[in-house]
Amino acid sequence: MASVPSFWSPRIAALEPYVPGEQPRIPGLVKLNTNENPFAPSPRAITAIERAAAQGLERYPDPESVALREAIGAHDGLRPEQVFVGNGSDEVLAHAFFAFFQQAEPLLIPDVTYSFYRVYAQLYGIDCELVPVDAGLRIDVEAMASRAARGCAGIVIANPNAPTGIGLPLAAIEGLLASCPDRVVLVDEAYVDFGGESAVPLIDRHPNLLVVHTLSKSRSLAGLRVGFACGQASLVDALQRVKNSFNSYPLDRLASAGAIASIEDQAWFDKTRLDIIDIREGLTLQLEDLGFEVLPSQANFLFVHHPAHDAATLAAALRERAVLVRHFRQPRIAQYLRISIGTRDQCSALVDALVRILG
Ligand code: PMP
Repeated sequence: MASVPSFWSPRIAALEPYVPGEQPRIPGLVKLNTNENPFAPSPRAITAIERAAAQGLERYPDPESVALREAIGAHDGLRPEQVFVGNGSDEVLAHAFFAFFQQAEPLLIPDVTYSFYRVYAQLYGIDCELVPVDAGLRIDVEAMASRAARGCAGIVIANPNAPTGIGLPLAAIEGLLASCPDRVVLVDEAYVDFGGESAVPLIDRHPNLLVVHTLSKSRSLAGLRVGFACGQASLVDALQRVKNSFNSYPLDRLASAGAIASIEDQAWFDKTRLDIIDIREGLTLQLEDLGFEVLPSQANFLFVHHPAHDAATLAAALRERAVLVRHFRQPRIAQYLRISIGTRDQCSALVDALVRILG
């Protein structure tokens, strides 16, 4: 590790610096590397943001984000006190790690999952135990539950998982909830709207369930930074205390206005997410024709492997042709590429580039 100034806290010195290489500032790229939605957000969201700006920004926003929490609650069948909002689900996750997982025992996460979970654990000094996914890269629910039953700080999973896209049925989530009833099971549903099964209906029966959502993916609002968590009021209360200790204004006026209008535009939401699912299914068949093995995806991306071609080399060759996909260096998944679902034209550009590369 490079030397750092002596006045840094030791835990910060151990943090890997974030390299924002996945967001290059080069125009004209076919950008299929960070799971953004290729379609525009609801036009009603844009109008609402413009209207909020016209009403003025000289006053602080509502510190409780009541209107947004009511809108989310109305959409998901919850009371506002069961909803917590933050600046993107990354912030919501960070607060949840702080609020629930600083315990004596280790936190359980799958060894193949969203990389930021380990970053938050490291930031807050939370010991993590990685539970290996199975041979098909599926989360090993039985192994997690039996490990949890011996004592843990909690469980964090993404459902559908990232970067595999594989979803778990609700029965599996219920098994995890039962395995550690006095610890939080956090289910990150960033991609659930593309075909997964949401655990939100389980909240009333499970005081230890926290479900985290984002407006970055299925609502096309990655640029607005809005995420939220749903759970029983006692969990939301803990998150609210953490949040207020960092910053008592969770969301700005523009983000709240845009998020509310987006959540209320069910028709736009359904149209764009069903389009993405349709494009995903078509792209799966085209990639299989090119010899790729494609994991079954319930997300807005595909996780693919070519038995005859090195994944890093393929990613570099695509980049030379201005197509960005994601390659991970983690040994277990180093022979896979993650491809975000783009527009039909973007996916055609990807397939054309692959045809030329694969010869
Ligand atoms: N969870 C998962 C599984 C993700 O892939 C991402 C985005 N990369 C996030 C959370 C964070 O999303 P955001 O902060 O944009 O809400």
